[in-house]
Amino acid sequence: MFDDLNDLYQQVILDHSKSPRNFQKMEKANRVAEGKNPLCGDQVTLYLLMEDEIVKDISFQGSGCAISKASASLLTESLKGKTRDQVKRLFEEVRAMITTGKITGDELGKLAVFAGVHKFPARVKCAILPWHAVVAAMEGKPEPVSTE
Ligand code: ZN
Repeated sequence: MFDDLNDLYQQVILDHSKSPRNFQKMEKANRVAEGKNPLCGDQVTLYLLMEDEIVKDISFQGSGCAISKASASLLTESLKGKTRDQVKRLFEEVRAMITTGKITGDELGKLAVFAGVHKFPARVKCAILPWHAVVAAMEGKPEPVSTE
């Protein structure tokens, strides 16, 4: 599945899927949301500590494919310290990049490793899953989100 992905991007994704960052439950979290991608079997729970509209801390737990795990791991690294509005803007940029392969804006940073995912339509939902979950957590939605 990685054949067409740039080697460097592939390495970053594999690294984050094998050793995910911020991979733990957060007891002090004040926002939690769960996301599921039934097509692939991915499951992710996002834990957020929000203070004054700012992501003070963020972590996740879950199981699934390399893409969903790496996406959640890089997401937690990218969102710490961001405001609610910044998170939403980044979500839109990531969604556009993952579905079209085009990188817009200059805030994506390391998240650009997922640009190649658009060539694998079945994997788009894996990559976007943690983003749906983090937005749901910020909005305080009680129901689990699903990509279906
Ligand atoms: Zn998946």
